[in-house]
Amino acid sequence: MTHTVTLIPGDGIGPEICAAMQRVVAATGVKIDWREAQAGAGTYEQCGTPLPQETLDAVAATGVAIKGPTATPVGSGFRSINVALRRAFDLYSCVRPCLSMPGDGSRYTDVDLVVVRENTEDLYAGIEFDQGSAQARHIIEAIDQAQPGAIRPDSAISIKPISVSGSERIVRYAFEYARAQGRRKVCAVHKANIMKATDGLFMHTAQRVAKDYPEIEFETRIIDACCMGLVVNPADFDVLVLPNLYGDIVSDLCAGLVGGLGLAPGANIGRDCAIFEATHGSAPDIAGQDIANPTALILSAAMMLDHLGEKAAGDDVRQAVRSVLAQGACVTADIRRNLTGSAQGAAGCTAYGDAVAE
Ligand code: NAD
Repeated sequence: MTHTVTLIPGDGIGPEICAAMQRVVAATGVKIDWREAQAGAGTYEQCGTPLPQETLDAVAATGVAIKGPTATPVGSGFRSINVALRRAFDLYSCVRPCLSMPGDGSRYTDVDLVVVRENTEDLYAGIEFDQGSAQARHIIEAIDQAQPGAIRPDSAISIKPISVSGSERIVRYAFEYARAQGRRKVCAVHKANIMKATDGLFMHTAQRVAKDYPEIEFETRIIDACCMGLVVNPADFDVLVLPNLYGDIVSDLCAGLVGGLGLAPGANIGRDCAIFEATHGSAPDIAGQDIANPTALILSAAMMLDHLGEKAAGDDVRQAVRSVLAQGACVTADIRRNLTGSAQGAAGCTAYGDAVAE
């Protein structure tokens, strides 16, 4: 059987890590008909839009996509391509597993947790009003009527919507994921002591949903204490479920627990569509030099293979990555630096990808 998948190479290191990822997927023997589509800052320069309609059509047609990171074009007036894609396909769940692997060079050896990030609301909803704009003034005046002086007149405003329906479906997703993967605990992360309306709603919704999953342990943690707990003893954590912004930040923190951004995969999952991508960005500082680590995207491809029903191939990819890392002879500069403090003797993106494929 041949699977049809949209491939968006993206910007910066995107094309190089995508090429390595495709060679690894080809080595599994699973047949993929790759439909390449464009998005990102480079696409904006060529087509005048960073997210052409043909790309949206391609993702809608295949229902499964994998993408390299995309940069937001400066001065285009366009916001984030990722936010636009997540919204267009209602990819409400962002799943980011963080697993220690021998040879990852991290100071931790026992991390096995999954960040489940709400992907569609919160401060990422993009409802923002510039300082001095008529809309900002209007909002400040309206709020001033109820709470005089609550907002300084020279403020910019960002709106943080968190809904019962949005919270319920992401928390339910986290519990269903935990149940399907045989995980023991779900932790809902919030700042309900300060943001009683929005984070309070998220926390109370999580507490209510948790009652439907009595076999899975449940706890809530305040985001700041949670970050400290993650750094002190990450083994205390299993599945974390978080509103959008905390999920974004905690994802990078957790990537740091398992060797860094070069090793952290992810999936954006909706009801009818899934887009797989690494946690990291386009890394413009190392783009085009064949030194990026393609592992995060390769492991995202393993998640994609699972999603396509090719679990054995997904396991093969994970095993290949583990084995190349454990041998330690052929690792990219980021991992080499973790291990020895210097990038000397590191393998390039191409050579490392070939070693995993082999
Ligand atoms: P970044 O993740 O691109 O880079 C942060 C640091 O990590 C850099 O030093 C980089 O060299 C390093 N790094 C990242 N990925 C690596 C890899 N695979 N191998 C080795 N080193 C790696 O974050 P940034 O610099 O804040 O963002 C750069 C651009 O990427 C911005 O335009 C941002 O908007 C975009 N971005 C896109 C996505 C996405 O498409 N999903 C996610 C985050 C950021």
